[in-house]
Amino acid sequence: MSAAREETIRDLKALRAHLDRTIERLEKGGTLARDAASAERTPPDAGLAEPFVGRLIRSKYSGRCLVCGENYHLDEQVLYSRELRRSAHPRCGKASP
Ligand SMILES: [Zn+2]
Repeated sequence: MSAAREETIRDLKALRAHLDRTIERLEKGGTLARDAASAERTPPDAGLAEPFVGRLIRSKYSGRCLVCGENYHLDEQVLYSRELRRSAHPRCGKASP
């Protein structure tokens, strides 16, 4: 048997083993994208180490407070952090001077 032919057979066996593992995972209810999905998952916004500091402005949008996660509304007073590009309720952070 030629070396190239042996190599091809070895590659195909490795591929078959990989496919067997993938099929087994799917049969157990897993997904193909499992690894990618867990890598892309981002931690929640809550639990900031530092207090939120921002400039007191009237919001031009409605959105979600970075600190408590509750909504704020259009034209409501919010603290806006240019650094984080996020807003928070005035009660949830500190106004920068
Ligand atoms: Zn808040």
